[in-house]
Amino acid sequence: SPARPPCPVPSGHAVGALLPVVGADTVVPLATGGTTTYVNLDNAASTPALRAVADRVAQVLPHYASVHRGAGYLSRVSTALFEQARGEVGRFAGARPEDLVVFTRSTTDALDLLARAVPPGARVLVADVEHHANLLPWQRSARTTVVRGGADAEETTALLEAELAAGRYGLLAVAGASNVTGEVLPLRRLARAAHDAGARIAVDGAQLLPHRRVDVGRDGIDYLALSGHKLYAPFGSGALVGRRDWLDAADPYLAGGGATLDVRHDGVRWATGPDRHEAGSPNVVGAVALAQACLTLGALPPGALEAHEAALRARLVDGLEALPGVQVVRPHPQDAVGVVTLTVPGRSVSEVAAYLSAEHGTGVRDGRFCAHRFADALGLAEGGLRVSTGVGTSSADVDRLLRALRQFLTTGP
Ligand code: PLP
Repeated sequence: SPARPPCPVPSGHAVGALLPVVGADTVVPLATGGTTTYVNLDNAASTPALRAVADRVAQVLPHYASVHRGAGYLSRVSTALFEQARGEVGRFAGARPEDLVVFTRSTTDALDLLARAVPPGARVLVADVEHHANLLPWQRSARTTVVRGGADAEETTALLEAELAAGRYGLLAVAGASNVTGEVLPLRRLARAAHDAGARIAVDGAQLLPHRRVDVGRDGIDYLALSGHKLYAPFGSGALVGRRDWLDAADPYLAGGGATLDVRHDGVRWATGPDRHEAGSPNVVGAVALAQACLTLGALPPGALEAHEAALRARLVDGLEALPGVQVVRPHPQDAVGVVTLTVPGRSVSEVAAYLSAEHGTGVRDGRFCAHRFADALGLAEGGLRVSTGVGTSSADVDRLLRALRQFLTTGP
């Protein structure tokens, strides 16, 4: 089919690097022996750090010391920075005054913590379209029902609503956006359905938060899990934001120093609040980096991120659909972020991904994306190729990928 013109860019909005990220000018080797600038279209796996985050880390790194323990000046400064970071992450997430912000290592860690805090007797509902991080912590409990997802986000939502209506559940766990198709679920609607049925709602925000603002108070979300490395801060920081009662009543997630009020030969009095689940010396620099990412993203004009991503996604999907031999998985969902999966029937996706890297310096992801049940249901048992955009992605990056794919299809191995 003839190449269609690229999707028009909405006037008044410059598609291109929205915020500076570090490493945007990274030069990588090519199989030909030459080099090229790297095109990062794997933002759904991990995002590069924002320049503002890198600068903040560079400021803090020379001066950190133990938090919540030392009387020295630097300990007091680090403690203040750590607690300030907690407040900033909470504000970014729209936390209610009574909510807790517990620092974790990642979204996986946050969801595992929540899974341990669900009161005995509360049944959990989850769909099989979830990333393993939001499936396996629940699936290993006998109190969990895993329902089959629908043909699209609307159908999955309707299935979850119908199941909730039975009134048997204490918690619904859903991803805000799919890491396979980019589909966004209507969270406010699901929150209402959960609450009407006497349940709470936990949202895996790993893929949604890099693209959309979520406000747990406004949206009626009881728990939100997030990761720094998907939000333009480095690895090893994340958070669980949400209602205090289950967290205060639960066994501490980690047992150790800092989580206790008093330890005697005949028992332990555990702390409440975030300390209860944050035993050990925390990742202070990670928390500060995550908070800076929240501040910087939170200061973007409303709608700017969405407009940037929507234009890039449309340009990408239009371009892919114009390539004979490429199939896009659920190309036109009602609502989606910049995560698009495709296949090249007759070719292995790992071969395509390796070609894009070796010949064009372009990074994408191939496989089943830690969502095996969903991938299988989508016909991706052999894997798909995932292209994902971020704040640093430009229309030129998308065009470079499309040219590279066209070259693969016409002259590639
Ligand atoms: N949830 C979703 C939807 C994801 O895409 C991912 C990572 O890809 C995770 C959870 C897990 O995130 P982390 O590796 O930061 O724990």
